[in-house]
Amino acid sequence: MKIEVKKLNAQKKYAGVFEYDYRPPEDICTIPLCKVAGSVKVKGSYEIYDDDSVGVNFTLKFGIEGQCSYCLKDAKTDVEEAFDILFVTEDDPDNYRYDGINIDLKPAVDDAILFSQPNVLLCRKDCTGIDINNN
Ligand SMILES: [Zn+2]
Repeated sequence: MKIEVKKLNAQKKYAGVFEYDYRPPEDICTIPLCKVAGSVKVKGSYEIYDDDSVGVNFTLKFGIEGQCSYCLKDAKTDVEEAFDILFVTEDDPDNYRYDGINIDLKPAVDDAILFSQPNVLLCRKDCTGIDINNN
């Protein structure tokens, strides 16, 4: 998904909304034996400011499925998280950089998927691991 900042500026469309399905790279899930289920729903809005910086808010919604990190049973969870980021035209360690013409949301969305996933995937909240009496 790209935001064509220069074009939107010329059209005086300084704010807008977007919504799309994104299929992330296979290896984006960092939990062992798990993966992102299907595509990630990205929904958000942008605002172009006078200094060409662009504020972008978006919410990610996706599922993670795989094997429970403790007991290896099938497990899945839903993730929903909101992000508020700023794109600027100069190098800035706290923000994303763009060329002043187009913003490619992909790197920011990939980062957001990485940040929003849990450290472990559990089959249930109180899973204590493999139950040796049942197996
Ligand atoms: Zn479990």
